[in-house]
Amino acid sequence: MTAPRNSAVGEQGSADSTEASKPHKSVKGSKSARPESRLALVRRARRINRELAEVYPYAHPELDFENSFQLLVATVLSAQTTDLRVNQTTPALFAAYPTPEDMAAADPEALEQLIRPTGFFRAKAKSLLGLSAALRDRFGGEVPGRLEDLVTLPGVGRKTANVVLGNAFGVPGLTVDTHFGRLVRRWKWTAQEDPEKVEAEIAALFPKSEWTMLSHRIIFHGRRVCHARKPACGACPIAPLCPAYGEGETDPDKAKKLLKYEMGGQPGQRLRPPSDYPGRPAAPLGAAG
Ligand code: SF4
Repeated sequence: MTAPRNSAVGEQGSADSTEASKPHKSVKGSKSARPESRLALVRRARRINRELAEVYPYAHPELDFENSFQLLVATVLSAQTTDLRVNQTTPALFAAYPTPEDMAAADPEALEQLIRPTGFFRAKAKSLLGLSAALRDRFGGEVPGRLEDLVTLPGVGRKTANVVLGNAFGVPGLTVDTHFGRLVRRWKWTAQEDPEKVEAEIAALFPKSEWTMLSHRIIFHGRRVCHARKPACGACPIAPLCPAYGEGETDPDKAKKLLKYEMGGQPGQRLRPPSDYPGRPAAPLGAAG
């Protein structure tokens, strides 16, 4: 099973749009459906991951960064805003303050003005000043590569720490953001709402080696297809595996209109991940599959 042809995701694989629009059989709300066994859940979860890997072979962090400090700062700034907005903001920020030492010594008001477009700029500036000073004073000006150290930095929780570990240090981590939580609950991989509990339950379904790329794939799917308010079920390549099929638009033509494409070529859009990054960059819009 792969993506429907001529859809945003379909450019990445061959397709059967009829198949794609069929609901998942064993979990979908039928009264006669038996509860899914643990083994069946693990198999279905891993199959969804494999399908998403085919659909989004280029999944990658959508924040622009050149080093671990930049990724840490960009991730802190990404709270309550889009990655695109952050990517439009960080070039000037990193030009002004390239190192933790530089940022720790920044004039707070000047820093606030630079990051203002990302929203909540006073609180974010406070976090950036605090974490830069902590990096300078406690970690020799380097971003630490351990979760237990990262979460001691101001403004850095498990989600941010896992983004940095997974993408700057190659340490597997699950990024439980709003997309991730929504999708894994729709897929009935977990019923938990608390991000730490979600992280623990999803971690138990997959080998560690999958955690980072799984996170990117889920977030890609949440941004492009399985939206919070109007999921594009009728154009979804994993519909046959999804217990929530039908929560969104099931008509294939209407669903296709809900898909959000890669913003290839737009300012701030990452098209060239770091050369050693395991994923592949997105094809330009309109490129043949
Ligand atoms: S769009 Fe979301 S809810 Fe709809 S079938 Fe796909 S994964 Fe399930």
